[in-house]
Amino acid sequence: MNLKFLGIGSAFQTSLYNNCAYFIEEDQLFLIDCGETAFEQLKEQESFSNIKDIYVVFTHTHSDHIAGLGQLVEHCEKTLNKKLNIIVPNKEEDTLKEDTLKEDIETLLDIFSISKDKCNFLSSDDIKEKFKTFQSMEFLKAKHSPELEGKCYSLIFENPEGKVLYTSDSIDTKYIEELINSDFSKIYADVTLSIPVVHLDFNVLKEIVPEEMRNKVYCMHFDHPNTIEEARKNGFQIANTTAKDISILPREFDYEKVEDKLILSNCGELTFMHLKNQNILDGVKEIYLPLEDTKHSSVASLGSLLTYCYFVLQNPLYICTEQEEVKEHMNSLIKLYGTPKESIEFKSGLPSDIFTPEQTGKKEKRKHVGEK
Ligand SMILES: [Zn+2]
Repeated sequence: MNLKFLGIGSAFQTSLYNNCAYFIEEDQLFLIDCGETAFEQLKEQESFSNIKDIYVVFTHTHSDHIAGLGQLVEHCEKTLNKKLNIIVPNKEEDTLKEDTLKEDIETLLDIFSISKDKCNFLSSDDIKEKFKTFQSMEFLKAKHSPELEGKCYSLIFENPEGKVLYTSDSIDTKYIEELINSDFSKIYADVTLSIPVVHLDFNVLKEIVPEEMRNKVYCMHFDHPNTIEEARKNGFQIANTTAKDISILPREFDYEKVEDKLILSNCGELTFMHLKNQNILDGVKEIYLPLEDTKHSSVASLGSLLTYCYFVLQNPLYICTEQEEVKEHMNSLIKLYGTPKESIEFKSGLPSDIFTPEQTGKKEKRKHVGEK
């Protein structure tokens, strides 16, 4: 089982693109997660032009893992004339009584104004022996972010060469330790050197994996290019990324910025990546987002932006809307994306006095990011 990656970065490490694994079998594409930057990567890479069916398994609902859902469903519908196949835990794997991963995915589709009838929900039992790459797969409960407690999964695949573990985002070392004490084929492990509260501390991985086994352990979901260097230096494998430079590609949005205030026209899939990679957020303290709807092209990358507002700016994102439905959807979206409810504040409209008269004089022309 050789997984390739559309990106190997964590949510904030936008230059490495969102961590997302895949394999192709004939005309079928199998994806593990599809975050903010994943679909644009798929579009850019020609190897996907012959794909007729898409299967995806989401490990949890953080936006760097699931925000590409809307684009995927629309691609399946409009270009392939098919439904998107989504693999979800079966009843035994999902011990929760309410708000299962499947229901959370349906809620996200609803927020994006996409009918759930455009998706086929399959359980891990339904895809037994369906692919040559693996015979069966299982969802394992993972320990990751407290906001998504009980709703994050690692995956284990059975194939003739042995077991393959995909930790996804997890601080749990339990499954890795179980595997290295038995027979296994590969481990794909999330590593970090900067945020060991929700991701696996690379130094812990080093302690538990003996040197002679490190060539079967692939590190992924990097918080920084330095972590890649550390992993390589210590004899670990680096997940094989096919990511292309998409920093010049559009997911169009406009912005106005004066000193420490920024007004955005939308927060679609690539908005956060552009804001970060083009240093637009430098010096910004307050961000305003007028919202008319919660379609994916308006809100998909909000998970990363809200986390940035809450932890880095220590200010809420000001959502400017008068519509009750938009407010309700936003409140559900932050639960799914696992950001604190204090990370947003509603305003009834764009405040007329965001910029002082003096600042308005300094205001640069509204800028556009994207093609045209
Ligand atoms: Zn996560």
